Amino acid sequence: MTEDERTAVDLLAGVARGLIELTSVAQTAMFRLPYPSSLQLALDRVVLAGLTRHMPTPGGVPELLSWCRERRPADWWPLELPVGFLTADARLIHSVGDEATRTCAELASYGRDGVLEQEAETLLAELANTCGTVERFAACRDFLISRPVILQYNPIELLGPAVAHTWKLVQHLYVPVPDRFRVHRVVHRCTGCLLLAKPVTADASWCEGGCQPEGRVLESSHQPEQARALPLGLRLFLALPGRTERAVRSGLDRQTRLLPQGLGLHRVTSPDGNLCVFQVQDREQPIPAALRAAEAAAELHGPLDIVAPDRLAASPGYRENFEYALSDGADVRLLSVSEFTGLRPAGRERNDHA
Ligand SMILES: [Zn+2]
Repeated sequence: MTEDERTAVDLLAGVARGLIELTSVAQTAMFRLPYPSSLQLALDRVVLAGLTRHMPTPGGVPELLSWCRERRPADWWPLELPVGFLTADARLIHSVGDEATRTCAELASYGRDGVLEQEAETLLAELANTCGTVERFAACRDFLISRPVILQYNPIELLGPAVAHTWKLVQHLYVPVPDRFRVHRVVHRCTGCLLLAKPVTADASWCEGGCQPEGRVLESSHQPEQARALPLGLRLFLALPGRTERAVRSGLDRQTRLLPQGLGLHRVTSPDGNLCVFQVQDREQPIPAALRAAEAAAELHGPLDIVAPDRLAASPGYRENFEYALSDGADVRLLSVSEFTGLRPAGRERNDHA
């Protein structure tokens, strides 16, 4: 990445962080005042960059929001982004759901000023510390993965002997569902990704996990004041890949061991008898995903397998862009779930051996 490209990406990440902060303060709607200062500051930088390059610029925060919803960054960004840095259809605000997209969340986590994934890591590190043992932490983490959104408080389930101890350790992580997710006083959860969802029209709905609209089914609660959800960072960077991770763990015929750091690093013995570390990722943007994976591998001082859902790994250009973004020394390999669990031979060798 050239210096100019890095500046362009950093500024885009700044806008994404401003949008994420807006979602955290805007309880009733995305577009209400006051706008967070981080978003206003990012807008000022976008306008300055556009004016010095004689490019059209948004006239204020409302226009910036509408451009983020209706246009691809590649079509209006005043600075030159690296070729292919975002997928062709990327938007920062979802046109149907009117919420920050997963792409926006991934960009907000990009670089040393990243906020969202980092917040999830901090919360998990604190939880691991409180738990004391990896086994207890793993049980708490599995609880969070299986219940990112609790529509209704059920004391019989949560205070029963099977989960009471776990619930005591994790209940502080759940926060009330923001008001803007109440549609006609009803809160919805998608049965596919288990995350927050909204019916938008009679025919259209939206869910945070990006499930296929045709097959999307929503559950609802008519007692929205009881609904609780994990913070956005834990919903998108723990619970969303967590669904796939649980399938991977149960599909392996070998024992996996959770490492207490990061979002979900697991050690497992590979079929050839060597120890390897893997992490399941479910991210829309392959290039930022690869850059984060390379950082994680560097911290591990060893090879890291990134396992992605089959559909994602097979989407056009995903694997190519992921591998393109890895530097020569990055000891990272991208595998689909089927490849990792041995259902299908791996398509590529590890990056540094390719
Ligand atoms: Zn969903």
